[in-house]
Amino acid sequence: MHPVLPRALPGGLEGLTELALDLRWTWNHAVDALWQEVDPDLWHQTHNPWVVLQNVSRHRLDELDADEGFTSRLDRAMDGRRRYFATPGLCAATPSEAMPRTIAYFSMEFGLSEALPLYAGGLGVLAGDYLKTASDLGVPMLGIGLLYQQGYFRQTIDNAGNQDAVYPYNDPTSLPIQPAFDPDGSALELDLPLPGRTLRLRVWRAQVGRVDLYLLDSNHVSNAPVDRGITSRLYGGGPEMRLLQEVVLGIGGWRLLEALGVDVDVCHLNEGHAALLVLERARRCMHERRLSFREAWWTTRAGNVFTTHTPVAAGFDAFAPALIHKYAKGLLADCGISLQELMALGRVDPNDDAEPFNMTYLALRGCAQSSAVSRLHGEVSRRLFERLYPRWPVHEVPVRHVTNGVHMPSWDSSWADALWTSACGQDRWLRESTCLASVATCEDADLWELAADQRADLVHYARDRLALQLGQRGEDPERVSLAGQVLDPNILTLGMARRFAEYKRMTLLLHDEERLVALLTNTTRPVQLIVAGKAHPDDEAGKRQVRAWLEFARRPCLAGRVVFLEDYDLAIAQRLVQGVDAWINTPWRPWEACGTSGMKALVNGGLNVSTLDGWWAEAYDATSGWAIDGGGGDAEDAHELYRLLEDEIVPSFYERDAHDIPRRWVARMRASMTRLAPSFSSNRMLLAYLDDFYRPATRALRKRKKKDSAPGLAEWSDTVASHWHEVRFGDVDITLDGEQWRFRAHVYLGDLPLAWVRVELYAEEGEGFPMQCIPMREGASVSGVIGGYEFSAGVPAAHAPGRYTARVRPWNDDAFLPAELPFIAWQR
Ligand SMILES: *Cc1c(COP(=O)(O)O)cnc(C)c1O
Repeated sequence: MHPVLPRALPGGLEGLTELALDLRWTWNHAVDALWQEVDPDLWHQTHNPWVVLQNVSRHRLDELDADEGFTSRLDRAMDGRRRYFATPGLCAATPSEAMPRTIAYFSMEFGLSEALPLYAGGLGVLAGDYLKTASDLGVPMLGIGLLYQQGYFRQTIDNAGNQDAVYPYNDPTSLPIQPAFDPDGSALELDLPLPGRTLRLRVWRAQVGRVDLYLLDSNHVSNAPVDRGITSRLYGGGPEMRLLQEVVLGIGGWRLLEALGVDVDVCHLNEGHAALLVLERARRCMHERRLSFREAWWTTRAGNVFTTHTPVAAGFDAFAPALIHKYAKGLLADCGISLQELMALGRVDPNDDAEPFNMTYLALRGCAQSSAVSRLHGEVSRRLFERLYPRWPVHEVPVRHVTNGVHMPSWDSSWADALWTSACGQDRWLRESTCLASVATCEDADLWELAADQRADLVHYARDRLALQLGQRGEDPERVSLAGQVLDPNILTLGMARRFAEYKRMTLLLHDEERLVALLTNTTRPVQLIVAGKAHPDDEAGKRQVRAWLEFARRPCLAGRVVFLEDYDLAIAQRLVQGVDAWINTPWRPWEACGTSGMKALVNGGLNVSTLDGWWAEAYDATSGWAIDGGGGDAEDAHELYRLLEDEIVPSFYERDAHDIPRRWVARMRASMTRLAPSFSSNRMLLAYLDDFYRPATRALRKRKKKDSAPGLAEWSDTVASHWHEVRFGDVDITLDGEQWRFRAHVYLGDLPLAWVRVELYAEEGEGFPMQCIPMREGASVSGVIGGYEFSAGVPAAHAPGRYTARVRPWNDDAFLPAELPFIAWQR
């Protein structure tokens, strides 16, 4: 049923298919010239090798086949490709203990390229960057996602400034993907039991260098029309459609891994959408290894990692209980757990039948390790999830963080690429990041020229885009031709692009329009601004903000200093982050979990002006960018932003020395490129996940699978759970013993074995004190009491003893705690 194969090519050109189908062309531009040669017009229009290859004329192909110059250039490109694959990545080159065999990365969206538009925003772009990074570093990863027929909406804007949503159809044959095959060589299809029918899924494979991305697709002729549409739109449709998409991604995704026959150690859930996977993985393990569901749940959980991406509870996916009931019956019938037990996994209160089923909670419970996406977001997330870990101090809520990063080779301009290559070599992003600091030795003049080249390129791009969009709106040709005169390649260029979600405050700069006009039109130190972004189709307030920018940009007095580019996407993002001098981002703190667009400017020498939120709260220092607080009101923040622009940003851009170089500005570019670009590269991010999450996951999973340690853990946790109510403190004695306070606590464990708990003396962080957690040592049994023990510990007498509180927690060296068993009992 998969009719799609690449067209037949003349013998000498067969390599072109391989090149066009590997999305490595999205970050490796060495072969761009080849595609340009194949068909300059198509290349210019699309920058998409796959489209070029599918549409170039047969006649042209025959010409190229006969052109020895071309075929030898193609051979060289194929050699380069073989070299990439033959060179072990940073990780493969340093094999070590507990390297996962395969990491399956699940995401509802993947933003790899405009040629494969399966994303809405930052979450997808991050997932795309992550796969590219895994390819570069040789981390054994594959991606699992959905193939949307229509993807996310595209933005058009009419003459009155109204945003409209359009949904172009993604014809799979025009996408750089191929049908996926099972190990026997037949086209892969999967069946999922849904109420009253079986859902049949097609499977596609996109190649991202060394990494494969598998895409599930419900648009199969044998499905009912409504089911064919499950994978129609990203974040479209109502709750039931969303749940069905999550069933396909999570449950279908795990079944796909089995059908492919890959040995997966780690499943990484990029956001909670794929959370159902944890149930399916356990269910399958239960049958395969003849375990109880609880045992299988404990075994497989070690291999699951969850990353949460939202800082507000409203951002979590939650479903009405009836919807879950409807689908759980068929899908999880043979799990041997009751509906009540299942529902409890997605609820704060297991006994509240009205509480919706929350996918984020399921993910937290079904993954032994969880992370947030920036330090600040870690703090916010721990507060959000506190209720799932009752009586635990908030900082011990088991959610750590790995700050996001971006795949630098996907975002650098050709000029930046050349500059970094001369300073740090061709394969700089494939090695340890230490070499990257040598970009610090670049001349000021070179950095300044980099900015000029990139800015000029962006100005031309923006003019072309503007002419195109004005033409499409039906503006008269005179106005369209004026687009060629907007912007100026020598003016300080600010960029601002993102979704028009309320918290992003896209119109903060318009707070005092006259003040902004004065900045833009200053005769000696003018400023120009490029804005882009989509408002969600149902978000009327966001659409009004889009209109506000369009109306502002039309003011005659601005003389083309402000341009709004329609239909913000990866292609526009790339050009913007390459060409702007400064990137502005003004969310409310702490609503931006991380934010990545500003990181994309780093490699190109763009400077950040941003709220101290998300990544910028960790990255900012006064040598490399500018910050506004973001915790105040809109008026205060707007004022602070204007002040920064007027007093600091504009002057440091325009104050030139005798060589006409703005030394202060260039010093910031250098600091930002040297210090920040390596830290916010996705290499750092992926290596952190590998060392701090994937390796511990792999180690624990293997241990649990070996002998019968998993039943051991399940039994341990069940016993602890059934006896925990017996655990309590008796007397706690505090005596002065020389330089120490000696604490002696009587602890009653009922029938719980002593070895299954740990007793600690805990002190909260206070003024001048760090948080402390001191293990208490077991002494004698309390005489005459079964299950009563004395525990003791000493602390320096300098601290008031009242700061310390004794506590008991379940303990098992093989468990991730408190994530996997969040009990705790306190002395008081
Ligand atoms: C990077 C990127 C985003 C995410 O950027 P934020 O800073 O998180 O808003 C969204 N959309 C596109 C097209 C991007 O390239």
